[in-house]
Amino acid sequence: MELNQIKQAARMIREKKTGTVFTGAGISTGSGIPDFRSSKGIWSRFDIREYGSIDSFKENPEKVWKFFSEIEKSFLKTSPNPGHFALAEMEKLGHLEAVVTQNIDGLHKRAGSRAIYEIHGSLDEMVCLVCKKRYSSSSALVKRENMFPYCECGEILKPGVVFFGEALPEKIFEEALSLTLKNHFIILVGASLQVYPAAQIPFLAKRNGLAVIEINLEKTSMTSRISDVFIQGKTEEILPILVDELKEKV
Ligand code: NAD
Repeated sequence: MELNQIKQAARMIREKKTGTVFTGAGISTGSGIPDFRSSKGIWSRFDIREYGSIDSFKENPEKVWKFFSEIEKSFLKTSPNPGHFALAEMEKLGHLEAVVTQNIDGLHKRAGSRAIYEIHGSLDEMVCLVCKKRYSSSSALVKRENMFPYCECGEILKPGVVFFGEALPEKIFEEALSLTLKNHFIILVGASLQVYPAAQIPFLAKRNGLAVIEINLEKTSMTSRISDVFIQGKTEEILPILVDELKEKV
């Protein structure tokens, strides 16, 4: 455990006061949801580029819905881990203005974070590609025939997550970016930072003079280029210690 780096990060957060966090799949591996790198788990049974692409959905929505129904079921069996709870607590302490996440598992919300920007969308929503109407996944308006949800206009709805080949939700992305840049630090948590345009956020943060703290199992392409403090290890172990440090009287 890199206690010195954690203390350094806590000093930086105290000094800069408010910032945002950018999370990737690595925050949820401690809850049992594998990242794409893991050799086991749901992603090893499905090729995400095939099942998670907009072209596949248009060609064969039933096949893609089967995949997302499995994903949804597997997410419901999980719970937020101490890393998610620590971020919710950091928000309550007044240090975090928002969680910007690439994840679609909904665990930040379940852990109690309030300001959340899901830049890759969410399984809580469904959208019609034809009339653009959006539905909450629990909406009573949605007719489930077999296992496929339909729009009022008769089209099969698409899960509300961003598919390969689709643009990010512009408004959410712009708001997340602008809030990030208005602040003074950014914490990068469990993200390989290879997925664009989401990975632009930490780059622009650095360019705008924000302090950058990175918590990851392994070094990333950003570590030596933009991170002021790199804490190597598991987010579910490091974040609770960081929050304890922030709560210490100085
Ligand atoms: P990613 O780009 O988000 O990278 C995951 C990173 O987390 C890797 O660098 C890995 O070394 C690190 N990591 C793994 N476990 C960790 C831990 N316990 N502590 C600290 N670091 C840890 O992930 P990806 O798998 O390449 O995913 C690409 C895209 O798919 C992203 O948008 C991602 O959010 C999404 N995705 C989401 C989920 C989810 O919603 N839970 C799961 C898989 C992938």
